[in-house]
Amino acid sequence: MKKSTTLPKLLEKTQKVFNAYIRQRDKELGCISCGAEVEQAGHYHSQGHHSALRFNPINTNGQCRRCNMFLHGNLIKYRQGLVDRYGEMVVLDLEDSANKNRLKKWSRDELETIITKYK
Ligand SMILES: [Zn+2]
Repeated sequence: MKKSTTLPKLLEKTQKVFNAYIRQRDKELGCISCGAEVEQAGHYHSQGHHSALRFNPINTNGQCRRCNMFLHGNLIKYRQGLVDRYGEMVVLDLEDSANKNRLKKWSRDELETIITKYK
């Protein structure tokens, strides 16, 4: 990657690669909140308030546009979907980690590692 790429641009690219991976991973499973067709990658803990979790593959799952955009994540059903998919313990761990670690400044190296991993 060229050095001239700005950090915000790199962040954007990383999110794009990561979200594409999530959509592909969950294509057969359906929207985590309602089971409809996966159209987007939706965060359980929002990336704005929880930047530390924005590339966490448990915090991010395939969703339909309706749940992700119009129902703001449809979070009560999202949580139920998480429990069904990963188990209550994993969800409690995720919530614990969200409370302890909210914001994170991602470094160029970390982002490049994520891109390589999920590409
Ligand atoms: Zn849905």
